[in-house]
Amino acid sequence: DLASSAVVAPRILAIVNQKGGVGKTTTAVNLATAMAACRKRVLVIDLDPQGNASTGFGIPRKAREADSYAVLIGEASIAEAAIETAVPGLEIVPASPDLSGAEIELVAMEHREFRLREAVVRHVAASPYDYILIDCPPSLGLLTLNALVAADAVLVPLQCEFYALEGLSQLIRTVERVRKALNPSLEIQGVVLTMFDRRNNLSEQVAADVRGHFGDVVYRTVIPRNVRISEAPSYGKPVIVYDTGCTGARAYLDLAREVLRREQSLADAA
Ligand code: ADP
Ligand code: MG
Repeated sequence: DLASSAVVAPRILAIVNQKGGVGKTTTAVNLATAMAACRKRVLVIDLDPQGNASTGFGIPRKAREADSYAVLIGEASIAEAAIETAVPGLEIVPASPDLSGAEIELVAMEHREFRLREAVVRHVAASPYDYILIDCPPSLGLLTLNALVAADAVLVPLQCEFYALEGLSQLIRTVERVRKALNPSLEIQGVVLTMFDRRNNLSEQVAADVRGHFGDVVYRTVIPRNVRISEAPSYGKPVIVYDTGCTGARAYLDLAREVLRREQSLADAA
């Protein structure tokens, strides 16, 4: 029973990259599942109007009444909107297409960058979670800004392709601006290389480039390009449930252990 466990403030990780198709949702779904497999209590907040994370957990549309949109506009609390997934210890605040209007509606609202943070803060006193992972849309608009303001740290998936680093300086600048103006304690948890293809020299080159640029911020764990990872969402299952032993599932389990180790050293340093 999630609710009977001891209450500590959850750590909030925003999964961010303004590029689409780099592996944000795949990482949110599978890192969350892998953390739950490590006995962490995890909530995923689906903040992308496309709702791919919700679909990836097999949440039917009709179960998405209270969603992340309702949370943002203050119509529902996180506790009201969170629903169970088939993964023990893992819940999700799903997204619905309503969220696509939020980017515009939020502009007129008070504290428009703080809507998600306020919902999280109201929730924290009774939080049954160790981690909250926020799956962001492919833009640096108000939805992503809400995630950055609510988060303790950012996790950036980078696809191993030629233009991987393009746009990253804009993302880093945005994180720095948020840190200065809105959320002074925001950290970068790490950069994860995704869709790595060991048969392709370009993947190696990009990985070396990114490590040269970011050093230890880049996780040792690399997520390989793996067909099981791309098949799993159409079954509404995280890859770790769909095919536990495949290379993709093992990589996300490794990533979870690395992220949790890093969390421990961040906590020890604080
Ligand atoms: P984003 O959320 O950044 O837009 P997604 O996580 O939805 O990106 O990934 C984009 C596409 O690539 C999806 O179809 C997904 O299934 C596929 N994909 C992501 N990671 C991998 C991987 N490691 N191997 C194979 N396919 C992947
Ligand atoms: Mg996505």
